[in-house]
Amino acid sequence: MNREVLVVGAGPVGLTAALMLARHNVPVRIIDKNTSATTLSNALIIWKRTLQTLDSVIPWEKFDEGFIRATFMEFIHHGECAMRIDVRAAEQKFPAGILVPQFDTERILSETLQANGITVEREVELISFTELSDCVQCELSIGETLQTPFLIGCDGAHSTVRHTLDAPFVGKTIPRLWNLADIDFDGHTELGATYSESHGDGTILFFPVTEGRLRVFSDAGKDATEKTGTPPSLSDIQHMLDTQSTLGLKATKLHWSGEYIVNERQVESYRHGQIFLAGDAAHVHSPAGGQGMNLGMQDAANLAWKLACVLNGASDSLLDTYQEERHPIGAQVLKFTSGLRKNQTIDNPIIRVFNEVRMKALLKVHAVQHKMAAVICEDEWNYRTSSLTHSGGGDFFPDDSDAYTLLRDKQMTLFCSEQCSFENELLPVSQVKNDAVVEKFGGDVLVRPDGYVAGVGKDEILKWFSRVGFQSA
Ligand SMILES: Cc1cc2nc3c(=O)[nH]c(=O)nc-3n(C[C@H](O)[C@H](O)[C@H](O)COP(=O)(O)OP(=O)(O)OC[C@H]3O[C@@H](n4cnc5c(N)ncnc54)[C@H](O)[C@@H]3O)c2cc1C
Repeated sequence: MNREVLVVGAGPVGLTAALMLARHNVPVRIIDKNTSATTLSNALIIWKRTLQTLDSVIPWEKFDEGFIRATFMEFIHHGECAMRIDVRAAEQKFPAGILVPQFDTERILSETLQANGITVEREVELISFTELSDCVQCELSIGETLQTPFLIGCDGAHSTVRHTLDAPFVGKTIPRLWNLADIDFDGHTELGATYSESHGDGTILFFPVTEGRLRVFSDAGKDATEKTGTPPSLSDIQHMLDTQSTLGLKATKLHWSGEYIVNERQVESYRHGQIFLAGDAAHVHSPAGGQGMNLGMQDAANLAWKLACVLNGASDSLLDTYQEERHPIGAQVLKFTSGLRKNQTIDNPIIRVFNEVRMKALLKVHAVQHKMAAVICEDEWNYRTSSLTHSGGGDFFPDDSDAYTLLRDKQMTLFCSEQCSFENELLPVSQVKNDAVVEKFGGDVLVRPDGYVAGVGKDEILKWFSRVGFQSA
């Protein structure tokens, strides 16, 4: 049987999955039905946790070159700043977030994949598949039948893989229309800042795309429940800017525009035997907070090293921890973005003002400001309750010192104070003698390939190795 893992979909999530598999020397094929990569800016921000997750294969500085850093989110009411969340409160060695249009994110991922010898096979569609006892048999649009040990569906919100599995996409459609457009503009906004302005009928939001270009997202009000089929024109957008915003912006050029209806849905199971769902194929939600792409790319990083271990002989049960670790974080994001969406569409003006006053008072407390920034930058995501986690583990390896750079180009990293030896055939473990890290954690520290601390202390690390199926000595 062919040992190549098949990744379906070359959006940001499929590209991350292929890249992370390649990093562990797993043979991989990545196909996409589209002729070329997206030219749309869709996801505009890479948050800190995604930068950290990718850092071992793409140092975060690569995303910093030529792109803008996220600064703050300002909420405007009647032309006055009602509250401001400064996301830079979450900055340490890594920036809180970098504004990178999705086509550039995909370009950087594709280039890195290509440097690893893997090219996206374009105009190749997964038509159907059947799960056999030890593999998945796939039919491709190019007339090829292939057998793969694992199929990863990164094929977006309308996923063929999810539909073929008949996996229910549990949740709801929110019957409220949003208009969106990328425009060049004249006028003043702070570089890297996002603005949310309440108007009589809802909310208008502005996200920086690049210098001089903004994404406008405007809620069409409670009576607009369906798409009209006609995306807004430049003059429609100017009308929205004039009537819904006090920023005084003039739209000078329309790059693209569209209509958007929010869906809030998640599959119950990310794993179906040898088939996995990741990214929008597994969860969709409001773009409020800019979390979707980030969530999916981190799904891919979590799954890839586990597949690598199992292909090298680890217990199949390791793959169940993909669901165990990623599903709750997906559910948490759905809840958080749903809350943001509800706040943006409060129709009762009294409740809206009350909400803003309450938030403004809360955000004056430094700890609340810090907490909000940490939530948005995904700093709080952890696997502390995972069955894989051992004492002292579960959090992301901290970036308060330069020690994080020692994870670069490695698969699994063991920080120790004296020479220790872990022999295994599943994944290479790089041993790094570093007294400062050992002292900070209070023992030797094992860091997983996705950057999370597996366990602290020799005994806990040995238990972790035996749980995953590593042979240690
Ligand atoms: C307007 C807008 C704004 C957004 N803003 C943000 C933001 O600020 N921050 C954020 O994090 N997210 C944002 N998102 C969400 C983000 O764009 C998605 O979460 C992200 O693209 C999902 O990536 P993916 O790889 O899972 O799926 P996709 O990007 O949808 O990629 C799926 C790929 O699979 C391919 N495919 C589908 N079916 C098949 C098949 N049968 N065979 C082969 N190939 C197939 C498709 O051609 C496609 O290339 C936004 C989305 C939109 C629309």
